[in-house]
Amino acid sequence: MADRRRRTGFVLVELLLVVAIIALLLAGYYGLSNRPAASNEVKQSVPARSIQKAKSVECANNLNQLRQLIQIEVIETGEYPQQFNPGSQGGIGTCPVSGKPYQYDPKTGRIWCTTPGHENL
Ligand SMILES: [Zn+2]
Repeated sequence: MADRRRRTGFVLVELLLVVAIIALLLAGYYGLSNRPAASNEVKQSVPARSIQKAKSVECANNLNQLRQLIQIEVIETGEYPQQFNPGSQGGIGTCPVSGKPYQYDPKTGRIWCTTPGHENL
């Protein structure tokens, strides 16, 4: 009998431990930590922040590819492309975060993203 009671108690502790671990994981997943958020910071969950970061990296990669295209044009013709429309370059012509096409200045050959936070990519 005593052995049976000890076994039941152990199962209960195990169960509570599993529930506690799941609760802890969910709290982390949904960003319910007690970390104080800055006033201008939009509070996002850990996966949402990771996805946002990955899309920012994709945006920087798109801009690098377009800059290489522009450089190839400069090497071939000696001047910046005048009729360059980033939005017509398919998937790499738009920011993956906002979906807005990149801006291009034919005078300086500069190409940039207008999405807030992507100004320096
Ligand atoms: Zn962007």
